[in-house]
Amino acid sequence: MEKTKNYNVEGAVLTIPLRYDENAGRYMEVYPDFIKEPVYTPEGHPIMLTLEDACVFGEKKNANEPLVDCGSCRFYRQMQNTLIGVCGCEKKRTNIME
Ligand code: SF4
Repeated sequence: MEKTKNYNVEGAVLTIPLRYDENAGRYMEVYPDFIKEPVYTPEGHPIMLTLEDACVFGEKKNANEPLVDCGSCRFYRQMQNTLIGVCGCEKKRTNIME
């Protein structure tokens, strides 16, 4: 049976498959492509990976660090112990609430 891990990401339930990595000696999460197939929270915010390239709407989280990916963006809400988080930028939000 496939190993999986479940997350409740601000109300969006995700099931992430796990694959054993021989080099790391532990199970690693196998993330879906949230760019090709976007997933949104019930509030309409897109779920993103921390390492996704920063988009044109991104803004630096820290003035002395470059904006390179979602993880370095002030709009990103990182979940613990995973590369999954939520983009809180209003320009990236869907209008599903309107
Ligand atoms: S968190 Fe949102 S606004 Fe920031 S870089 Fe990622 S997608 Fe763009």
